[in-house]
Amino acid sequence: MKRIDADILIPGQGTPVPNGTVIIEGTSISYAGPTAEAPSLPHIDSYRVPTVMPGMWDCHAHFFGTEGADLTYLATTPTPVSAVRAARDAHTLLMAGFTSAREMGGIGVYLTRLIEEGTIVGPNIYGAGGALGPTGGHSDIHWMPESWRDDLAASGKGWVTVCDGVEACIKAVRQQLRIGAQIIKINATGGTMSMFDNPNHRQFNDAELRAIVNEAALAELAVGAHCHGVSGIVAAAKAGVTTIEHNSMMDEPTAELLLEMGTMVVPTRHAVDFILSLKGQIPNEFWEAEAAFAEKHWRSLELAIEAGIPIAVGADIMQSGDPWGTNGKEVATFVEAGMTHLEAIEAATANGPLTLGPRAPQSGILKEGYDADVIAIDTNPLKDITALGNPQRVTMVWKGGNLVKEPEQHSPVFPSMAPA
Ligand SMILES: [Zn+2]
Repeated sequence: MKRIDADILIPGQGTPVPNGTVIIEGTSISYAGPTAEAPSLPHIDSYRVPTVMPGMWDCHAHFFGTEGADLTYLATTPTPVSAVRAARDAHTLLMAGFTSAREMGGIGVYLTRLIEEGTIVGPNIYGAGGALGPTGGHSDIHWMPESWRDDLAASGKGWVTVCDGVEACIKAVRQQLRIGAQIIKINATGGTMSMFDNPNHRQFNDAELRAIVNEAALAELAVGAHCHGVSGIVAAAKAGVTTIEHNSMMDEPTAELLLEMGTMVVPTRHAVDFILSLKGQIPNEFWEAEAAFAEKHWRSLELAIEAGIPIAVGADIMQSGDPWGTNGKEVATFVEAGMTHLEAIEAATANGPLTLGPRAPQSGILKEGYDADVIAIDTNPLKDITALGNPQRVTMVWKGGNLVKEPEQHSPVFPSMAPA
């Protein structure tokens, strides 16, 4: 058993408790509330921290293990190389206070197995397998022959799965189930950095979208839809997806529709800001296009917050290495876009599991019976929300009741993780 006493306990949902205590029994929480009312138990490991809160959720991760986001890297990076890099990135994420990741395409389904068997240390990963999309869409690798793309998908390196027509879409969902998917990811519009597919065009017709959502539902799987343009957002929401990813160009009528359907949004602003930070390092025409897109995306984020659509944190980091660990910057971004500090923390914690629909675990809240995924911060994030984007400020991490990060801890496996 473990006991964590804190100056402030932020439960993830509900009102913060000054002088709060969390008690962990095995893998779950047995008490979370005022220190004054906490049961006193002998022989228990105790810790004293400034702030205790639930471990955060990154609801739009990609474990690709490649040096860039270009799909060509799929073929040119040997699998063992990408696997070890992805294992390091998962470890970095956990050390940054993210005890869970919803992985929207990549090798996360395999990392889950390695983490659960204890081979590597990382967050709980709920992987999608390959992201589904139609021929010529955002899941396609347009610049290579189709046979090359299909061979690659069949080789187990399928971050992307191309399917056309209802039958093929149903089979594609089943193929993700076959490799252990716990969420289905679809690309329901084009992308912003793609060669041919346009972010304003929707992808998949209504019959295909419905077939995917219905087939996924048989296995209690939620569907997350990558959508930039309005037509794709509307079609995906009407088909019954659980989350809209990016949600870049949402207008007011569409916000009403999302509220009516109970659809959540994962805005992934971190990825937009990361590309903008590359000014001078990427071709200027790409940067200019991204800057124009970023303005629309920001308005859509503000509108989603104003409308009260449930929102979750997702960083959408596509390359290995940098900027893993800064995923929590998204929380401060939500505050800039209009959330209260408490709402932004809820987006990073309690809202996370909801993006998995029926498979949502009891996580993201400091509450009796919930998973003991708990973090300590060296300050009060209700006063300095940027602390959640800085791994140095996340001083302790418990995952499933196990202490996996302590102050001054040095990692023998990934030396770059040693505190500076
Ligand atoms: Zn993504």
